[in-house]
Amino acid sequence: MNNLTLLQYFEWYLPNNHLLWRRAAAEASRLAKLGIDGVWLPPAFKGQNDQNVGYGVYDLYDLGEFDQKGFIPTKYGTRDEYLNAIKSLQKHGIKVFADIVLNSRMGGDETEVVRAIEQSRDNRLQQISPLQEIEAWTKYTFPGRNGKYSSFTWNSAYFNGIDYDERAKKSSIYLFEGKQWDSKVGKEKANYDYLLGADVDLHNPKVREEMLRWGEWYIATTGVDGFRLDATKHIGSDFYSWWLTSLRQKTGLELPTVGEYWSNDMGELGKYLQKTGNQFWLFDVPLHFNFFKASRSGDQYPMNKILDGTLIESFPDRAVTFVDNHDTQPSQGLDSWVDGWFKTMAYAIILLRGEGTPCVFWGDLYGIPHDEINAVPDLKLLLQIRKNFASGLLHDYFDHEHIVGFTREGSTAKPHSSLAVIMSNSKGGQKEMNLGKQNAGKKYLDIIYARSPEVTLDENGTGNFGVGNGTISIYIEEKAAKKLFLDGSSTI
Ligand code: CA
Repeated sequence: MNNLTLLQYFEWYLPNNHLLWRRAAAEASRLAKLGIDGVWLPPAFKGQNDQNVGYGVYDLYDLGEFDQKGFIPTKYGTRDEYLNAIKSLQKHGIKVFADIVLNSRMGGDETEVVRAIEQSRDNRLQQISPLQEIEAWTKYTFPGRNGKYSSFTWNSAYFNGIDYDERAKKSSIYLFEGKQWDSKVGKEKANYDYLLGADVDLHNPKVREEMLRWGEWYIATTGVDGFRLDATKHIGSDFYSWWLTSLRQKTGLELPTVGEYWSNDMGELGKYLQKTGNQFWLFDVPLHFNFFKASRSGDQYPMNKILDGTLIESFPDRAVTFVDNHDTQPSQGLDSWVDGWFKTMAYAIILLRGEGTPCVFWGDLYGIPHDEINAVPDLKLLLQIRKNFASGLLHDYFDHEHIVGFTREGSTAKPHSSLAVIMSNSKGGQKEMNLGKQNAGKKYLDIIYARSPEVTLDENGTGNFGVGNGTISIYIEEKAAKKLFLDGSSTI
């Protein structure tokens, strides 16, 4: 996964027009030119209804092929359109990461009478009722698919619990008789195995066998390159290590994978990486929260601490960095949206330093009409700079509470690829930064604000770079700027 530039190819409020797969195929070439070489596509499985974003999975084998739940295509299109989008992206050198949702199922076909105990919502290990009979939507028979690809059907034996009793019309958390929550999960609410819907029992040998069989089918059918694993905090930490290792062995493929473990606690993330044997990468949730806090704190945030307590600081070769995603966008479940004024700074940090694997959010690249949020104006420019003009040794200048910066020395592999970045969350100012002696005498232009005069490096490769109030300046070599803006090679 190293050195990729990922794009999360959806936001929560995309129109329900079944067109996303067709759009992905159509703009594959443009994305590649922009510098995107990995795309995370949303879950492609039939959901409980036709507006489902993809996390309310009904049938993992229905990628928009069967008339189930009253419709054939998913929110994003049909199975053939999905397969075509993957092929088109790959044809342009873009790796495709599929969103894998195994924690729960929604939209069961029939109910069953099961015995269960209600658990406290705040403490999932605390019983709040005696053992009782409930009517649960746990039968998944997939009548519309009629056994194609897999004859496996689901019943309550394959789930740990559910959140609704049809008989009493009551919402609560019900743990089924003879079941226990998985102990190797997040410790919030005492035990965070249960998230939503019908919680899959991933300890059950038949379920494990079926999930492995499904994984092989999915790879053979779609040809995806790797995975994004949903909700790993709610799944025993041993499961995905086993599943991925088995799939890699069976397919002989590398299957690069990033897991979503939603925690702001670096200690917890470090332990999880250890438990999973470093089989996959993790999203840098603490870095997102540093960006979020900085963007909401004006000049009160210590910018020299912006990388503190993050994955990129502790495990840069395991970190997928991001600014926002479909859960952190306004009014979503983990709403912690990074304010607009800070976005370019955050993206400069994840795109231009050459550490970790950055993942750009659709909502930042294209905007979110639902909330009247515009695209981040400089994002395409930053992607172009990352692709063409950022490389070489990194030097950090996180030495001031408000004005921080970093430089890259450039490399012979990428001509004119040294640069300097300086940002302030308060008053503007100047900072002396070094770009390596080999760059002595070179001239640098601020491509964000066209500040003048240009900066020329002294005989040691040091320059005095300026920045305005509460903003960022990015200085690239004069020759790089000319290439970017004058010779037509730029796609922006
Ligand atoms: Ca679970």
